[in-house]
Amino acid sequence: MERRLQRLSWLEFQRLVPNEIDTVILPVGTVEAHGSACLGVDNFIPETIADGIAEEINALIAPTVNYGITRSLYRYPGGSTITPDTFKLYVAEILASLADHRFRNVILLNGHGGNNATLKAAALEWHHQYPGNIAVIHWWELCADVTKEVYGHAGGHAGTDETAMVIAIDPALADKDSFSPDLAYAFKPGADVYPVPGTILLGEESVGLPDFDVDKARGYREKVCAKVAEFVADVIERWRQSGLA
Ligand SMILES: [Zn+2]
Repeated sequence: MERRLQRLSWLEFQRLVPNEIDTVILPVGTVEAHGSACLGVDNFIPETIADGIAEEINALIAPTVNYGITRSLYRYPGGSTITPDTFKLYVAEILASLADHRFRNVILLNGHGGNNATLKAAALEWHHQYPGNIAVIHWWELCADVTKEVYGHAGGHAGTDETAMVIAIDPALADKDSFSPDLAYAFKPGADVYPVPGTILLGEESVGLPDFDVDKARGYREKVCAKVAEFVADVIERWRQSGLA
């Protein structure tokens, strides 16, 4: 069935929510430089995960929040940013709308590290104001073990994990021909640099660079979706068992 909220009429929505479907996924990202990959990586990944899990967790998919809090990469061409206060208010009002329209469980699927703290704060406030349930998922952290299992090492910003997810959607999104290891910068303890001097950001020198094997990437996407679906299904079941969902 159609899972994307925007493609349903209000009549279909009224029939489905909350009687047949009481869970909604809200993908959130930003527009930001990602090495030789596209500026929309952080939006496309939570969208593809949402597509991959919606059926299994019986959820609708709300339209993506495409503009987020871009920090040290903001000055690279094409990026955009929203101040944390504005972003938090905007997300809070979207969450309020989802609750008003009778979703019981909200799965906030985050694709961008700069959003983490603000999404957590917005979710916690919503949780105090509304009787619904909410989980904020930072997919690359939840699935760090999947990255290790498939690729044998950690990922990074625009690294192995993010690149795999976008080339699993469409190899053209990561432009292999424009890739160079010179785009990468490994974080150094004891230094904060703005703009950060690289658009592929690694925790360790040369570890986590993009891998452009498309078949491997498709297998990785499947495993990421399976892991997120399993986690969400378990959380919802626990809410239900506690009488909260
Ligand atoms: Zn990213």
